[in-house]
Amino acid sequence: RDKRNLVTYTMEGFNVFTEAHTCKETLKAFEKLSVKLGLENVPHEEFFDQLSFGLAKNWKFKRFLDHLKNKFQDTGKGEATKVLVVGAGPCGLRIAIETAFLGCKVVLIDKRDAFTRNNVLHLWPFTVTDLKNIGIKQFFGRFCCGELDHISIRRLQLSLLKIALVVGVEVHTNVEFEGLKCPRKNGGTGWKAVCKPQNHKVSDFEFDVLVAATGARDALCEYKLQHENGTVIKQGFDRKEFRGRLSIAITANFVNSNTPAEMKAKEIGGVSSHFHQKLFKDLKAKKEIHLENFVYYKDETHYFVMTATKASLLQRRVFKEDFLDASELMERKNIDVSALLAYARDAANFCTNNAMANICFAKNSRGVDDVAMLDFSSKFEAVNASHVIERNGKKLLIGLIGDSLLEPFWPQGTGCARGFLGAFDTAWMIRNWKSMKGKPLEILAERECVYKVLSQTTPNNIKKKYSEYSIDPKSRYPSINPKAVTLEKAKQFYDDVQEDYSEDVVSPAKRIKRSDEPVEFLDLLQWCQKALEKHTHFNIKDLTTSWRSGCEFGCLIHIFRPHLIQMKDLDPSNPFRTMEMVVNIAQRELGIYPVITVSKMVNCSSENEVEMVSYLSQFYQLFYEEPI
Ligand code: FAD
Repeated sequence: RDKRNLVTYTMEGFNVFTEAHTCKETLKAFEKLSVKLGLENVPHEEFFDQLSFGLAKNWKFKRFLDHLKNKFQDTGKGEATKVLVVGAGPCGLRIAIETAFLGCKVVLIDKRDAFTRNNVLHLWPFTVTDLKNIGIKQFFGRFCCGELDHISIRRLQLSLLKIALVVGVEVHTNVEFEGLKCPRKNGGTGWKAVCKPQNHKVSDFEFDVLVAATGARDALCEYKLQHENGTVIKQGFDRKEFRGRLSIAITANFVNSNTPAEMKAKEIGGVSSHFHQKLFKDLKAKKEIHLENFVYYKDETHYFVMTATKASLLQRRVFKEDFLDASELMERKNIDVSALLAYARDAANFCTNNAMANICFAKNSRGVDDVAMLDFSSKFEAVNASHVIERNGKKLLIGLIGDSLLEPFWPQGTGCARGFLGAFDTAWMIRNWKSMKGKPLEILAERECVYKVLSQTTPNNIKKKYSEYSIDPKSRYPSINPKAVTLEKAKQFYDDVQEDYSEDVVSPAKRIKRSDEPVEFLDLLQWCQKALEKHTHFNIKDLTTSWRSGCEFGCLIHIFRPHLIQMKDLDPSNPFRTMEMVVNIAQRELGIYPVITVSKMVNCSSENEVEMVSYLSQFYQLFYEEPI
C-alpha cells in the first residue's frame, strides 16, 4: 500500500510541477517531488535515471522522459565537467539543458526569483523545432500550434526551467554572481564564484566552465577576480558599440480575455513603413503617430512592438522636451507616461482596425500598465565570445551567450534565435574542452571563428534541415571560415599571468588590467595636469569645469593612444559633438564607461565632481603606469 501511495503521490507531485505557474512554485514543487523520491543527494549523473524510474508508472511522463533520455550523450569516462551558468533567461536555461545532456554537472544561478516579462519573442523556425524536440509541449501544450511562431518570454523561461530541472540542473534563485575566486596554490581548490549572498552554498561549488548569460543590461564587462592573497582586480569582456541613427522602440501589452472580438483580431508579424506606405501615412495623418515598423502578436497578452520617430513623440507630447543627447531625451522625467500610454493604445487600435477598442493594459512586474520605451540607437556586441583564465595550474573556460554576447533588436526578434545558436556553439566548445584537454587555443580559435558568423545569421541563411541540427556548428551554419581567427590571434583570449603552465600555449595575456585601488583626488589632479602640461592651451585647474570642451579628454587619449584620436579632430567650438565623440572612443576602444550624460559633462560644475572624478579615475587606472 505504501508503494501505491508513493506512486499516486509522485504522479500528483509531477502534475503540480507541470502546472506550476511561477518560477517559485516550480522550484518548490520540484523540490517536494525530489524529496519524496529520495533524490536530494543523488549524484548528478544518476539523477535523471532515478527520476525516470520514480515516474515510470505513468505512460505520459514515461514517453516524455524516454524521449529526453535519448538526448543524453555518452561522453565516456573521466570526471564530469562542472559548469556554472549565470542567468536564467531563455539562453542561460537552454545551455544549462544542453550541457546537462553532455553529462556535465550544471549549476544555474539567477539574481532574481521571478519571471515577469509579458513581452513576446518571435521564434525562428529552427527554435520552434528545437523547443519541441526538447519536450516543451509536456509543459506548454499549446506551444506554437498551427502557424504560431512566438511565445511570451516568461512562459518560455518557465517551460525551460521545468525541462532543466528534470534533466538534473541544480537551480538557485536570488543568488547574484559578482566575480571569481582564483584557485589556491596549496590546498587544491578549483575555481569558485564570489556571490551575493556570500554564504550561499553556490560559493563552494568548484567549476571548470563559466557561462555568462546575464542579458544585455548586465553583460559581463566587468567582474571581480579575487586572488589567493586577497587582491582584487577587475576583469571583463570588452564590447564594441554600434551606434546608428536614433531608433526608439515602444512595447505594449494588453490583457487578452479571448473574447470573440479579440480572437478575430489578426496578428501582424512585422510590417515596415517601406512596404505599407498607406497604412503608415494614414496613421500619421489621423493620429499624428509616425512609425517605422510595427508588430502585433496575440499570446497570453496582446503584444505590440513598434519603432516610433522622435518627431511624432514630441508632437504627441510623449517627450516633454527635446534633447540632442538620447539619454537625456529618454530620461524618465522627460517622459509623460499618460501620453505614452495614449500613443501606444492609438497605434495598437489603428493597426488592428479597432478590433479590440476597449481592452485594458496588462500590468508589469511593478503593477503598472505594461508599456515601455527603449532607445535602440546603439547596440553592443562582445569583442570575443570566449576566454580562458589560468591560475595556479587550473584553467577556467568562460563563454558568453545570449544578449550579453550580442544585443538584439527586439522588433526583429533576433534575441532568442541568435541566443540559442550561440548557446549551441558554446555547448560545442564545452564538449571539446573536455575531450581536447591541452589544446585550449584551438578551442578558443574555433569558438571565435564560429562567433564571427553569428551576427550575420537570418532565418534564410542558416541551414534548413532543422531536424539535423546539433551542437556542432557545421550542422547549422552553411559556411564558417576556419581561418578567421588564428591560433596566434586566439592568444589574446588566454590569460595566464603566472606563466606556470606548460606545452603549446601562449605568451602572457595582453588584456588590459586595471588597478582597483581608488585614487586620491590630488594625485588624480596632478597626474592630469602633468599629462596635459605640454598642451598649454588647456588650463587644468580642477576635475570638473576644466574638462567641459571634450578636447581635454580627447587630448588625454591622444597622449597615450595617438592612433585612436587626432588632435585636429578636437573641436572646442562644438563641445557636445567633441565630448560625444571622445566618450564613444573611450568606451569602445578603452572600455572606459561614462558615468553621467554627455551634456552633463559639457555643462558640468563642482556639483558633478563625484561623477567626473569617477570618470577621470578610469583613465588614471588604465594609464598611470605608462610614461607620459
Ligand atoms: P535575459 O533574458 O535578459 O536573462 C538574463 C538573466 O540573467 C536575468 O534573469 C537576470 O536576472 C540574470 N542576471 C543578470 N545578471 C546577473 C548576475 N550578476 N547574477 C545572477 N543573475 C544575473 N526581445 C524581443 O524579441 N522582444 C521583446 O519584446 C523583448 N522584450 C524584452 C523586455 C525586457 C525587459 C528585456 C530585459 C528583454 C527583452 N527582450 C525582448 C530580449 C529577450 O528577452 C532576450 O533576447 C532573450 O530573453 C534572451 O536573453 P538572455 O537569456 O540572453 O538574457
